[in-house]
Amino acid sequence: MIPNRSEYLKQQALQGQKIMGVLPALYPKELLWAFDILPAEIWDPPGDIVKANRHLQTTICPIVKQSLEFILTEPGIVNAGYLFPHTCDSLQNLGSQVKDMIGVPVPVYTFYNPKGNFNKATRAYYGDILNEFLQVLADVHGPPDIEKLRAACELGLKIDGRRIELQQARMTDRLSLNSQQYFQLIRAAEFMQPVDYLYLLNQVEIQDEPLKSHAIRFLISGILPPNDMTLSFLDDLGIGIVAEDLLAGSRRIPIATLDPPADPIEYLTDRFFLLPPCSTKAGSLDHRQQYLKKLASDSKAQAVLFNIVKFCEPELFDHRSLVKSLKNEGLPVLSLETELLPGLSGQTQTRIEAIVEMMGDEVLA
Ligand code: SF4
Repeated sequence: MIPNRSEYLKQQALQGQKIMGVLPALYPKELLWAFDILPAEIWDPPGDIVKANRHLQTTICPIVKQSLEFILTEPGIVNAGYLFPHTCDSLQNLGSQVKDMIGVPVPVYTFYNPKGNFNKATRAYYGDILNEFLQVLADVHGPPDIEKLRAACELGLKIDGRRIELQQARMTDRLSLNSQQYFQLIRAAEFMQPVDYLYLLNQVEIQDEPLKSHAIRFLISGILPPNDMTLSFLDDLGIGIVAEDLLAGSRRIPIATLDPPADPIEYLTDRFFLLPPCSTKAGSLDHRQQYLKKLASDSKAQAVLFNIVKFCEPELFDHRSLVKSLKNEGLPVLSLETELLPGLSGQTQTRIEAIVEMMGDEVLA
């Protein structure tokens, strides 16, 4: 059901679709849709790092490395520019490098999301940067069509609504997808046309009654889900990831459904400030702790898995405190470090098996 990312994007490019390469993670995709631009998000493109290393420090995260490798060897798909949201210092630096030093044959855009504890001034700032980005796009692609922008927001609202329904169904065992299938579905948002993606989401059946519960219920937190082989291993062990707090996942979906967009800029501003807490927004750590505890409780999670991208400063900054507060709630915590490589190491297998064993027979009964 889910198309292959590379094939899908190649096909879109062949059909003359405008495609923008977008680095993680928070950006107003509705503005791009309104200009008929398809965002193709670049998180963990596969392949060896050959050209990128000479531009980067060794202690940079693999998302930055793999993204730069993709940009340097890009197979002719991205034709409408690259967008670098201000997610972390590493991505901000990468944006400057690509724009000012390396150089690419397409425009390079930046989008400076607000950080810290939000207030009226941050809200006004966010409205301003949306308008500025709209103008920047208009300078290249012609004047914005306000009705098209409103329609893009309405489509985004439908996608958000369905994603919220699916998240709730996942937490209450009313989806028949295993973890591998579920995260493939979530990650298809990174490259599909919004209409195609909404259609895909609507194909997933939500059961009226809970299905058989997973033997072990995990909440996962981090930037990306584990790779397919690790997810498959978890599935085989009877571990269900019933809730997620991932930057590539639910941290980009508002915690509540909004009203239909009368004013698109107002709507997009409301939407941004309704997103869940995230390490990359540098907000209150206490808020994150409370949010994760509630997510664990609502999903009846019995343990928490942190999937930490190696050298990810924002995540590592919060990690120790989050682990401590979750353990204080009696939740076992497993922290895995990932370099975003395919496969499953023996060490990771052993650590997953160890936590299952530690959780004891009563969980598995
Ligand atoms: S993994 Fe962390 S450090 Fe790397 S790009 Fe994402 S937020 Fe930035």
